[in-house]
Amino acid sequence: MQQDIGKVMRKIPSMDKLLALPQVRAYEAELGHDTVKSILTGVLDAQRKKILSNPDTAFDSDSIARDAEKMLKRRAFTTLRRVVNATGVVNHTNLGRSLLANEAAEAVSQIASNYNTLEYSIETGSRGHRNDHVEWLLCRLTGAEAALVVNNNAGAVILALAALAKDRETVVSRGELVEIGGSFRIPEIMGLSGTKMVEVGTTNRTHLRDYEQAVTEDTALLLKVHPSNYRINGFTASVPREELAALAHGKNLVFMEDLGSGMLIDMSEAGLREDPTVRQCLEAGVDVVTFSGDKLLGGPQIGAIVGSARIIDALRSYPLLRALRVDKMTLAAFEATLRLYLKGKTESIPTLAMIFAKKDELQKQARRFSKKIKDFFEQTNLRSVRIEVVPVKDAVGGGAFPQTELSGYAVSLYAPEFGSAGKLAEKFRNASVPVITGAAEDRVLFHMRTISAEDEELIVSALREMLVHPAAQER
Ligand SMILES: *Cc1c(COP(=O)(O)O)cnc(C)c1O
Repeated sequence: MQQDIGKVMRKIPSMDKLLALPQVRAYEAELGHDTVKSILTGVLDAQRKKILSNPDTAFDSDSIARDAEKMLKRRAFTTLRRVVNATGVVNHTNLGRSLLANEAAEAVSQIASNYNTLEYSIETGSRGHRNDHVEWLLCRLTGAEAALVVNNNAGAVILALAALAKDRETVVSRGELVEIGGSFRIPEIMGLSGTKMVEVGTTNRTHLRDYEQAVTEDTALLLKVHPSNYRINGFTASVPREELAALAHGKNLVFMEDLGSGMLIDMSEAGLREDPTVRQCLEAGVDVVTFSGDKLLGGPQIGAIVGSARIIDALRSYPLLRALRVDKMTLAAFEATLRLYLKGKTESIPTLAMIFAKKDELQKQARRFSKKIKDFFEQTNLRSVRIEVVPVKDAVGGGAFPQTELSGYAVSLYAPEFGSAGKLAEKFRNASVPVITGAAEDRVLFHMRTISAEDEELIVSALREMLVHPAAQER
């Protein structure tokens, strides 16, 4: 047995042989010699392990060369890549949430590659504050007295709870103890901040008296949390903001709200009705509101904290802020995005443009695009392909308005020559620019709401690749 294994092992090609293969050497320009070698070491080690666990494993030098090429290819290209989002989910968290407006992307590029006024005051020639670039804009757009930004909304919630209620009690409804996308769970976030969570009410109903009875001399804060993707329907009750504010202020407590997706403008015209804007929360008496920059607001990943000057000042001097501070590229993008709100140019913010896209516009777009795809297939010999314009339900995404469906249109593609719908979706994912499609039974869908004119060309290119290099698509 021992001997057999030794014999099999000797059939593994040497490192030098692999390194000399032209298809391996081609990767040295991208990866450098040492990295190529280390990847090949991994391939050879994996082969030895396979043989040790089963000496009858079939392999030859060609199969090892193919494994090597596959591993090198995986490392040779950037993995954070542009994709086409054809799912119709506007703020798709896995696909990068909000797209930046052109103005915001240009600001990032200017600031990223040049020295800038991140923490410098031109007026005094001395140190400035990075928060100043956006604070006045946030105040202007929400009516807040003061504002502070951090890395993301999760950070905003932790910072606010820690600075305002560490080692003291925070009262929160059991109906709002939610988990948002796995790693953000309200009880754990509260634990992390060092505040003591006091749960009140029940999952479906919480009353003002529940909060009243929970307040003790250790209470520092009343917390309201947006339930994100979670909804309780039927026999439910929660306490209006105005009543919680009155309770908090009567007892000298802070009333804080984690609003999740922060809307700066009214979006009821797009059917987004049940959530208030940030301004409305403050007007209802909330002392401090936290929200994300890259959800409904349509900017970069950031966490905004707006509210009364006294509270924001307490956060400004809290040491945890340093660990959550915002990068210059993010600030550049955020300032540029807020300025579009200031000018009323919200149609230039892609998230808002996509949410407000009109149904009949999307239908027209779908008709034009379906014609493009039909023209493409005319030039091929695939005859069982079917292309249709179909009405679909799109979504806001990012935990906002989970129950509001946006009426849209898609182009559906049925192409059995490429295999099942799952296989077809996989082929689109493996295009040079991956296309993430929607699905409906035996076909894939291209939801027009999230597809730009440039994306349409990329989808046609993906089809062309699938016909020209059917094998290159396999992984
Ligand atoms: C999305 C969300 C968060 C987390 O915000 P990030 O900006 O992703 O960190 C926190 N709370 C609520 C209610 C949310 O919807």
